[in-house]
Amino acid sequence: MSKISQRVSTISPSMTLAMSAKAAELKAAGENVISFGVGEPDFNTPAHIVQAAKDALDKGYTKYVAAAGLPALKKAVCRKFSEDNGVDYLPSQIIICNGGKHAIFNALFATIDPGDEVIIPSPYWLTYPEVVKCCEGVPVIVNTSRENGFKITAEQLEGAITPKTKMLIFNSPSNPTGAVYSEEEIRALAAVCVRHGILVLSDEMYEKLIYGGLKHFSIAAVSPEMKALTLLVNGVSKSYAMTGWRLGYLAAPEDIAKAVASFQSHSTSNVNTMTQYAALAALEGPTEPMREMVKAFGERRERAMRILDGMKPLGLDYVRPDGAFYLMLVCDKLYGRSYKGQKIGGSMDMAELLLTHAKVALTPGICFGDDGCVRLSYALSMEELEEGLSRIEKFVAALD
Ligand code: PLP
Repeated sequence: MSKISQRVSTISPSMTLAMSAKAAELKAAGENVISFGVGEPDFNTPAHIVQAAKDALDKGYTKYVAAAGLPALKKAVCRKFSEDNGVDYLPSQIIICNGGKHAIFNALFATIDPGDEVIIPSPYWLTYPEVVKCCEGVPVIVNTSRENGFKITAEQLEGAITPKTKMLIFNSPSNPTGAVYSEEEIRALAAVCVRHGILVLSDEMYEKLIYGGLKHFSIAAVSPEMKALTLLVNGVSKSYAMTGWRLGYLAAPEDIAKAVASFQSHSTSNVNTMTQYAALAALEGPTEPMREMVKAFGERRERAMRILDGMKPLGLDYVRPDGAFYLMLVCDKLYGRSYKGQKIGGSMDMAELLLTHAKVALTPGICFGDDGCVRLSYALSMEELEEGLSRIEKFVAALD
């Protein structure tokens, strides 16, 4: 009999790990590797947030608090949802979790039964299908098109629904594509979900990172019917450069929130107390540092797109990203060609060859369900961005 439960044995190890291990190995050997693989802002947590955590420690706020979160923080989250997204929740509907990832896990664990189908538009953040499998659900992957900016349409969603469909996992702005859905597109998807009574896990972690004058719109704001089906996930990791602090939050209908709170009280209990005070300062404090970070990301995005426009004749392309800090570099026109006798068969080869020969680290698109692309993160300095893209250009120009 296997010692590992069936539930956990179906989970795939992170495919990105091998690539980042190789990049780290090269760096340790003194190689100047430029990493386009990073999934976190290259900014420090703003000083007033760090200070709030220090103050919490000095004041002795080092004990347990309520498992579902500090009441003051839950109220601040309710205020945030009301002011930023136009959706009103009660503090009893909010769970403070150990990062957005944990909020997603909790939400699915509380709602997915064995055999339930969960629709995931592809390219997707690689954690989604694994969490679904963890909960013994069935991931149903729906491929989106480059022509439609990697966004699932209402017709595609409708076509993927079966009597077993329980949930849609929806992510805007998206990791890995940077796609941002418009209010109109979201309303069309919501209409399908409401008609079929399907839950939507809406992962809005990158809400604040949107460019080009576009506005974030939460699916929970569509209608009371849609809100009653929405599990809303957000957090401080990306918006406030707080990835290491580990704090995300979930807003859900009362019965689901109650189930999650009770489950969390038996698993992790509360998120560490000083982090909760830091998150409170993030949500209630000055927004200037965040706006500066978003401005810097916006400038790098512009620069990256202009440089990549110039590479189109070489066979490289991209799908315009409107949010987050990622873009999908379309490279499948290069498949079949080779570098110094080594043939490029797919995104894994592409990333490996780029790392070995151009000393740039990117994430193979196959990790996100799209083998035609590699993901580029622009959470790095402008100088590194320019140098890295120039290395990619030289590599592609040298292909046979
Ligand atoms: N959702 C998406 C789309 C992400 O890209 C990430 C992190 O990379 C998360 C959720 C998880 O965020 P956290 O670090 O708060 O767990």
